[in-house]
Amino acid sequence: MAKLSLEQDLRDRTQVWAEKLKVFPRVVRVQPMRRKWGSCSSIGTITFARDLLDQEKDFQDYVIVHELLHLRYPSHSHGRVFKALMNAYVPGWQHLKPRCVL
Ligand SMILES: [Zn+2]
Repeated sequence: MAKLSLEQDLRDRTQVWAEKLKVFPRVVRVQPMRRKWGSCSSIGTITFARDLLDQEKDFQDYVIVHELLHLRYPSHSHGRVFKALMNAYVPGWQHLKPRCVL
């Protein structure tokens, strides 16, 4: 698939997840990131690493859900509630690739 349609697919799935999780990202960006797969700013901008487009869907979903949940549970807080929600939405997420300084 061409990069553009891969990016569209990522955006579409982010939208579907956002509705499911009832969160509303203000802006979703895809750009080169060297050390992270994604980030979430306090004003609701979600950024995904461009090379996330080359990863398998399961892993993309993990990153998408992780960043979207930060709209409800602020960055740097990966506490019990956060992990419980990750378990509910993306079972087995702990076994997915590291490099996740998300
Ligand atoms: Zn995080």
